[in-house]
Amino acid sequence: MGQTARTTKLLLDLSSRGQGGANTHKRRYLEETVKILDAARVFYLAFFFAHSEKLLERVEVESSQTGEVKETLISADKVLTWAEYQTVETDAHPDPNPEWNFSQAFPDFPNRYRRSVIKDCIGKARGYLTQLHTWQKSGKNKGKPGMPTATNHPTLYAGTYTLELDELDLRKSFVRLKVYTGERWEWIHYPTRYNRYFEQRRAEEGWEEESPKLILGKHQAALHCLQTKTITAKKIVESKCDPDLVTVAVDLNVKQLAVITVRQHGKIRETRFVSDQGLDAHRYRHLKRVAKKQWQSGKPVKGERSNQQLWRHIRRQNTDTAHKTARAIVEVCEQHPGCVLLFERLRVIKPRGESKSRRLNRKRANQLKGKINQFAKEKAYAQGIVSVEVNAHGTSQYCARCGAKGLRFSLQAGQHVQGLGGKLFFCPMCHYECHADFNASCNVHHSFFREFHWQPRSKRSG
Ligand SMILES: [Zn+2]
Repeated sequence: MGQTARTTKLLLDLSSRGQGGANTHKRRYLEETVKILDAARVFYLAFFFAHSEKLLERVEVESSQTGEVKETLISADKVLTWAEYQTVETDAHPDPNPEWNFSQAFPDFPNRYRRSVIKDCIGKARGYLTQLHTWQKSGKNKGKPGMPTATNHPTLYAGTYTLELDELDLRKSFVRLKVYTGERWEWIHYPTRYNRYFEQRRAEEGWEEESPKLILGKHQAALHCLQTKTITAKKIVESKCDPDLVTVAVDLNVKQLAVITVRQHGKIRETRFVSDQGLDAHRYRHLKRVAKKQWQSGKPVKGERSNQQLWRHIRRQNTDTAHKTARAIVEVCEQHPGCVLLFERLRVIKPRGESKSRRLNRKRANQLKGKINQFAKEKAYAQGIVSVEVNAHGTSQYCARCGAKGLRFSLQAGQHVQGLGGKLFFCPMCHYECHADFNASCNVHHSFFREFHWQPRSKRSG
């Protein structure tokens, strides 16, 4: 049993009213709201640091199952109640601690927002105190933990927002938010860029909705809707004993981003190549430009970023490709319920003597591999598919059919030309010829089952 989480963005439409968006002052309200919540967090962080003994108080708790009495750290909920008692004016309790009167400092502050702020601060302050304690015990000079900052994205608990998305006309869907106008708290309607993709994700079975967050960026504002799902997946050791087990192996490369092979009963049943559609060459062209511009402008100025747009473009392209490739991998897995997904452990690239643009490109290509690996694992896990990292030793050098050491070659005008850059693989023992990445992908299965002599810690006899 495990838990997995995902977020889906719902963009707020802040374009001008003529284009169907919100009025421009509505964006200002969001900024004011973020500002006042941050200010409230400053208040409570200071409050908790002045009362740090309460945060670390040990209390006796009786276990509901065994009846045993144990001493544990006071729960966040109890600290919250205590903090509210100290700082908030109510009819029943009209005079809180005069030095820390939140009700006076922030009149009409909505309860829900106040509680989310307090909980946030309890987490931040406690985390800091624990880190500080460990650091003091270690006796080191370096690594003193920094004070927590008050800024955070507002979490929207029930009572501070409503989603009015069930309108049939999608253009009329909007979200109601409780925001601070600079003078008072008000409910304001914000149009959204609602879409079918969001609808589909929201309605998908098995996913629990959690409190969304308001993310206010420089250019856009969005609700990040969090969902969680409980996963039940078999343990790898159990799966490995299943004679009908299907394994899906992935070999990650630069030009063929992923070569996916599906194996059952010792036979490859399915193969899929995911090409990079020329991304590598495209990225290389951009990086050549970056390298040239950096060379022309000399030493970079500290604190100043250059080529921002170009880097952002490259980053976005990489992430987008990684998501698509991961999706393709999981699509193959979904056709084989109960399968195990196999990856090679990623290798660390070593710097070689080559031009700056080539070096940058190789670095980015390697990051892309890491991203595909990570996204595919996450997406697969959400479907209850477990992934395993296998030892990458020798997967691209040995023959997947007989296990002998092979050679790389390419075909030029119908002639075999040997060389390390070749895309094809040739085995001198059994004369097997195939695409080198396909061969590597097949070897990933062998590595999982430890079937060949060149694989470390082989269980094979003889
Ligand atoms: Zn062979």
